Amino acid sequence: MLVIENLNKTYANGIQALRGISLQIDCGIFGLLGPNGAGKSSLMRTLATLQDADSGSIILDGLDVLKNPQAARSMLGYLPQDFGVYPTVSCEDLLNQLAVFKGFINPKERKEVVALQLQLVNLYEKRKQKLGTFSGGMRQRFGIAQALLGSPKLVIVDEPTAGLDPAERIRFQNLLSEISQDRVLLLSTHIVEDVAELCPNLAIMNQGEIIRSGNPQALINDLSGKVWTKVIQSNQDTGDSSELTVITSRMLRGERWLRVLSDSQPDSDFHSVEPDLNDVYFTALLEKTQQFTTV
Ligand code: ADP
Repeated sequence: MLVIENLNKTYANGIQALRGISLQIDCGIFGLLGPNGAGKSSLMRTLATLQDADSGSIILDGLDVLKNPQAARSMLGYLPQDFGVYPTVSCEDLLNQLAVFKGFINPKERKEVVALQLQLVNLYEKRKQKLGTFSGGMRQRFGIAQALLGSPKLVIVDEPTAGLDPAERIRFQNLLSEISQDRVLLLSTHIVEDVAELCPNLAIMNQGEIIRSGNPQALINDLSGKVWTKVIQSNQDTGDSSELTVITSRMLRGERWLRVLSDSQPDSDFHSVEPDLNDVYFTALLEKTQQFTTV
């Protein structure tokens, strides 16, 4: 449904934000995971036709997006990272105005579409409320309502759960699942749990490149038998751990747990653990940067 081939983008300041990105994405939620500065927003903005690529192609449902940005815009919805709202305007009025921009000229049809979207994101009862009074979760749901205007084939959401409280985050994740049934929903995030919980497929991005892609469980299985852990005293030197490939070193309930990648048991203090998506993520980043990380 969405095919990206060899996409490259270098900004005027010389930063190479996209380096030969190729991805093939089917219907459902696709997670794009990576640290800040990896190039996720650059890829999202390029897909949303808000900026050009230097080379490469994006084909959405047979349409060449970079060559036909105008036509592509009617097929996509975008919830940017910094989605601002007019605080003194009501939810219904702003969505109505955005629907005009999206091409809903007929007032009766527009009213129906706006009401439908507000019902879908569970904001219909709050439609007369000013957006400035909305919680973070409600604002993000409004952001989804505007992204879905015109039933786009591709919906792009950039870091949507940052700043949401746990209950809002779950509600929002459920909404994303519901709306991804018959379209591509591209979810960019630096939160590993969002991807683990939501996405049947993912790509990990770092320094402008895709460094892993596939089904999360398959990527986890690739690390089976290779992740080892032990507790070390928090004030104790990690001994010979500088010789180890440390995936993470983190404090858990007052104890420092070291998690390392190794084909065999590093020493008798280590025991084998089931890998998880965090291990996949940090291992991928380790390989790319060729340095050990401490989290
Ligand atoms: P992410 O969304 O993963 O945090 P970005 O796509 O925002 O990553 O940024 C990738 C790299 O490109 C970063 O080094 C960032 O500083 C740089 N960058 C992003 N936007 C611009 C821009 N408009 N002009 C110049 N450099 C940019």
